[in-house]
This record gives sequence, C-alpha cells and structure tokens, in this order.
Amino acid sequence: MGGVPSQLSIFNIFRKSTKLKAIRKSVSFNQKLIDRDALKVVQTIAKAGFEVYLVGGCVRDLLLGLKPKDFDIATNAKPEQVNKLFKRSRLIGRRFRLVHVMFSARKYLEVATFRSGQVKTAKSGVIVRDNCYGKIEEDVVRRDFRINALYYDVNTKEVIDYIGGLEDIDSGQIHVIGDPMVRFEQDPVRMIRAVRFQTKLDFELSDEIKTAMHQQAPLLANISPARLYEECIKLFHNEYGFEVYQRLEKYDLLKHLFKQTHKNAFIKIALNNTSNRIKRNKPVTPAFLFAVFLWQAQNERFALIKKQQKSVYLAMSQASEEVIINQIKQVSMPRWLTARIKDTWMMQNNLERMQPKKVEDILSSRGFRMAYDFLVLRAQSINPELKSVADFWTKAQVDNNSQNTQTVHKKNTDK
Ligand code: ATP
Ligand code: MG
Repeated sequence: MGGVPSQLSIFNIFRKSTKLKAIRKSVSFNQKLIDRDALKVVQTIAKAGFEVYLVGGCVRDLLLGLKPKDFDIATNAKPEQVNKLFKRSRLIGRRFRLVHVMFSARKYLEVATFRSGQVKTAKSGVIVRDNCYGKIEEDVVRRDFRINALYYDVNTKEVIDYIGGLEDIDSGQIHVIGDPMVRFEQDPVRMIRAVRFQTKLDFELSDEIKTAMHQQAPLLANISPARLYEECIKLFHNEYGFEVYQRLEKYDLLKHLFKQTHKNAFIKIALNNTSNRIKRNKPVTPAFLFAVFLWQAQNERFALIKKQQKSVYLAMSQASEEVIINQIKQVSMPRWLTARIKDTWMMQNNLERMQPKKVEDILSSRGFRMAYDFLVLRAQSINPELKSVADFWTKAQVDNNSQNTQTVHKKNTDK
C-alpha cells in the first residue's frame, strides 16, 4: 500500500473477518445528564421519520455517570435533510459534510449522517472524497474505540452495541475497533486519544494497543502541528493532566509532541495547578503550560548563547525564539500564545532583580500576573532559592492594592 493508505481496503479487510450483529440493551442512567437541546434535536429528527441516535463519547460518559463534554448526534438523514428541519442550522465541512444546529453564539450541536468510512483517492493517493454515506453498521466501524461506538436511542432508552462497547464499559477496557496497527497508521492521533481516555476513565488499554502504540508512535510526526495543538489542549486542560503527561512519557509518545521537554518537578506542579484551577472553574491558558514545558530547554539554550552574547536580554530573547521555533515544528501555537510565552520568560529576569524603582511598572504590566504565577511555581519546585523573591512580589501586590484602596478612600473623603 503506497502513499496515503486507502481506508477502503482497510475497511474491507476489517469486514471480511467480522460479522456485525447489533445488541439492543435497555440501560438506565441519570437522565438529567442529557443536554436538553441535544434531546430536542434528536426528537425533531426522529419525528421527521429518520433513524437518529446520540453517539460516541457522550453515550460512553452517560453510561459511566459522567457529565459529557459535548453531545454528538448520528442519523440516516442526509445533511441537507437535517438542515431543512432546523431554522438555525448550517451545513459545514467539505470533505465531511455535517450540520451544526445553533443554540447561541457559542453553543451548537453537531449532527452527522452515518458514514461508511470509505474514501475515494486520486491516482496520486490524495483523498478526493470521504463523504460516502452508509448504514449504521458502517458508521460503527469507522470510529476509533469500542467504548466510543455506542448509539443511544433516546425514545426507547436503549443502547445499540455492534462491537462489544458495553462489555468494555463494564470491564473498564479500551479496545480499538479492528487492528490497532492499521487504525493507528490510518490516524496516529488515535494513540494520544487512547491515553487520554485511559486516564480520564481510569480504564485499561488492551495489550494490542500498547504494542501497536510502541511501533506506530513515530507516525505522529505526520500529523499537522495545528491538529496536534488542539489535541494538546484536550490532553492537558483537564483534571488529570499530570497523569496524562506521565503516561505519554511512559508510552514514548511525549517526544513526538514536545521533543525538547523532559519531566521535572516544575512540570508536575504546573499541571496539577492547572487541574486545580479547572476544578475551581478558574480560567486557564495553554500559554502557561507551554511556557513551563519549554522552560528548561530555554534555560539550556540561554546558557549556551550567553557564552558568546554579553547582553542577558538579547541572549534570553534569542534562546526563547529558538526554542519556540523548534517547538512549532511539532505542535503549532498561535502567535498571541508564543508572544505570551516569551513575555513570561523575559519577565522572570526582571522579577528576580526586584529593582525598587521598577516595581510599580512591573506590577501594572500586562504579563505580570502570569509571570508571577510562573515564578511562584518555580520557587515551589525547581528553584527553592527564589522563595524570597516570590514573597517579595506577593507583598508588593498586597501593598499596591492597599495603596490603591487608600487613594480611592482619600479621594472619596476629599469630595
Ligand atoms: P471527549 O469529547 O470526551 O473528548 P469523545 O469520544 O466524544 O470524547 P470527540 O473528539 O468528541 O471524542 O469525538 C466524538 C466521536 O467521534 C468519538 O467518540 C468517536 O466515535 C469519533 N472519533 C473522534 N475522533 C476520531 C478519530 N480520530 N478516529 C475515529 N473516530 C473518531
Ligand atoms: Mg465528544
């Protein structure tokens, strides 16, 4: 098989060895976990006479009593037919045509027509069309894991399982649909998804997945850095980011995302800090974690450059640029994000110097808050000698706040 692997032949191989038979099983779970809008969309499509289900991660999560992040809907209605049923909906995607049903500026639900998973490729191997509609049996096998290929019928409250997903949910196992070697070759991102689900659900990876992951990990190099950026946010912006990190390292996947990064106490404390913030509904930014992941590499590069470059500022700047350029070859980052990372790094030196004349300017600068958080976590992990510096900046903020309050108070009493 040369060039882009043809999914058509992959799926034929799969089908030859597998006869799919559906099991319908009544299930009970907390119905309040189902999003009301998702329920409405499903009911509207069903009323129009089509077959329609909740599908994928939301069914998995509902069965496990977890609140799903998003609700995906699968149907035998064609995208144009779905589009006609909802005033506020739009057709999206060229290769995969989907319908987004809009509920607000930020909220939409995705409705996908059952797909066969077959692709049409040009002679060159380039995919020209992979939007072949299919039956539900075909839609099942294009999915990644058995636990992600369950369909829920909201009217009968039954789960439709073609592939053993329910068994895996019960036994806490993750199995790829088909041969993991083939499915990871087809889409290497499935390897990091496996690690994320393993950690999120506290499930076991099948031995076949572990073996295949070991062999196919280098294929991650073929994935676009932009897609990997999205995946990285999903990997680390959650309540279990450090466990994910440790497993990515264990399975030798991490180096295909962050080749310049090696575990240290700073990374551990920062990932746990991010998870805690998420638990408390506080905002998080990927700039912070990326800055932490790359800090050691930046320091090493700085030490080398500093040997030839007298200016600390210029050496810091050059080291930062180089480390960032190296990183975005693997996982891209938007410009605003790399700018914030660089700012945070550059400010560490200013903070460490604690120059009294500059305190006010530094406190009011845009990047201060993140640079300060960064410094505090350094002091709590790899740089305990910076504890007094961190305390200095903590106190400076308190003093500054009370000064501001006093000024306001004075203004009010002067009136
Ligand atoms: P979560 O939303 O909790 O991250 P999820 O399983 O819902 O997990 P999504 O990325 O929302 O993941 O995808 C929805 C469904 O689409 C999956 O459950 C799976 O059936 C299918 N899917 C997603 N990505 C892939 C992929 N790379 N290969 C095959 N199927 C996929
Ligand atoms: Mg999902």
